[in-house]
Amino acid sequence: MWVEAVLFDLFDTLVLLESDEVFYSPCLRRLHGFLAREGINVPFEDYRRVYFEVRDRIYAETEKNLEEPHFNVRVSQTLQQFGYDFDVSNPFVTGATMAFANELMHYVHLDVDTVDVLRKLRGRYRLGLVSNFAIPECAWKLLDKFGLKGFFDVVLVSGEINKRKPSPEIFERALNALGVDTSRAVFVGDTIGLDVKGAKNVGISPILIERRPIERIMDVKPDEVIRSLRELLVVLEEC
Ligand SMILES: [Mg+2]
Repeated sequence: MWVEAVLFDLFDTLVLLESDEVFYSPCLRRLHGFLAREGINVPFEDYRRVYFEVRDRIYAETEKNLEEPHFNVRVSQTLQQFGYDFDVSNPFVTGATMAFANELMHYVHLDVDTVDVLRKLRGRYRLGLVSNFAIPECAWKLLDKFGLKGFFDVVLVSGEINKRKPSPEIFERALNALGVDTSRAVFVGDTIGLDVKGAKNVGISPILIERRPIERIMDVKPDEVIRSLRELLVVLEEC
């Protein structure tokens, strides 16, 4: 296969995010602390309970329609449950989102191989990033923090375009921006349901980076499985 473009997922592919159980509570506490300082008076446990109800309802919808409402939507909807009628662009809402995001950044680490591998691929392939994330501003900050921005010819974050993997649109949009046909692209990601399935559906060759034991029942199979980003260099040589 003649490869012209290599697309990457972000979380748990190029950067590693600690588990939900580790980061979620401190991030929500930061968000809540921001609101409290602004005079929004809701006990943390109440806020937390309603936040998860709202979030889970949004998740159930996005699983069906493959849209990605910005994180501001869940903050706004949660506040509405407590009688605060702030829309998604209200500074209390956007400030609370950024408080969550700034805390989250402490739980994200650069994979040891990322920079070296991207450096080796840069110039030989068109490179792209396609990430499912409801806080696109935070994705950009992370790329900045880790010095990754300059490697990519295209960056698409679901919260920016209201489409998430595995929707065909987000993959096709990335390749259209690169001017590369799907049959000349590979996608590297860590999830079967989002990355492998989504890429394969549009004719992109999926490469799974195995960050955890592979789900035994796979309705779609990756074309290759790698255990580190470094192995990607070998796989691409053999294409
Ligand atoms: Mg991922």
